[in-house]
Amino acid sequence: MLSGAGGANCQMCTATFQQIHDISIVQNGFPINRTIRDARDVFDEVDEEVFLSLPTNQRFNLTHKPISEKDIISASPLHAYLRTFSWFLLLICHLQYGAIQQWSPTSPIILGARKFITSLIEEKLSISIDTPSVQGGTTTTGNVVRRCFTRSDDTVEDFLYWVLTVVPQETHQVATTIFNNLSAILRLYNSNRKVDTEGLDNVCRETYESILINFSWAHVTPTLHKLLAHAPQIIADHNDGFGLEDLSEEGLESCNKLVWQYRERLSRKFSFEDNVKDVFVRLISQSDPILASFRNITKNDSEPDLSELKSCQDILVKSLIMNTL
Ligand SMILES: [Zn+2]
Repeated sequence: MLSGAGGANCQMCTATFQQIHDISIVQNGFPINRTIRDARDVFDEVDEEVFLSLPTNQRFNLTHKPISEKDIISASPLHAYLRTFSWFLLLICHLQYGAIQQWSPTSPIILGARKFITSLIEEKLSISIDTPSVQGGTTTTGNVVRRCFTRSDDTVEDFLYWVLTVVPQETHQVATTIFNNLSAILRLYNSNRKVDTEGLDNVCRETYESILINFSWAHVTPTLHKLLAHAPQIIADHNDGFGLEDLSEEGLESCNKLVWQYRERLSRKFSFEDNVKDVFVRLISQSDPILASFRNITKNDSEPDLSELKSCQDILVKSLIMNTL
């Protein structure tokens, strides 16, 4: 609604579905070229009815005049984590099924494979994925995804080790490289460190190409495309070269759960006003510094811990961090 690009594959660039799967275009990169000002100019200059009757790719997938007048770089670092994890899980489901002809995330066979794999992870690692949560949403939270993406020294504790047990041996090496690269890219994207954006761009491009070459049937979803095609430029041009930890939507998202809980269980239901008032009071109490001082909080440091380089993923992350001292 804000951008007017209701039919677009990507809110950052005007690439079509075919173009985001074309390796020669991937090699040249996808500069951020979709701007609200351009979109608004188009609607101001041409007849809207004629314009909207054009094929979608000739009108840059615009579906209406943008509501916003300002360009929006929707970075969404948390959702990059969640959706990239979901995409990788889907890739594994397709590999587990074996006779793959096309990307079919909602087919009963792939949904069955997903259930089988998530049950295996629950059994081996006690990590619950895809299950509806009592707090709202599903159990696939940022913490769960970060835990899965972090390689463990102990193979039986390692998410990747277990998911690879269900896919053909010949895919192990390439799936491992893609997994490690995605994880390193996401760690940098969600960090507060100064990033070597050129180096990151190379890793993103290699990973993007590897997906298209090795799994030509796989779809690069809009979020995965945004991460691999645009993350380096978002960091370099729009955040002074630093990872996007400060722009994470994680705090906002975690408040949703509190709001649902308070509205349902810890507020008056006599009227909408009383209900909202109680929810606000509860939310304000949550962030009260005196009350907070009584809480036993362990700091969840999202900055990559690189004091000990445990895996090749850590080495890759370290090599892409610039020393700002
Ligand atoms: Zn794009």
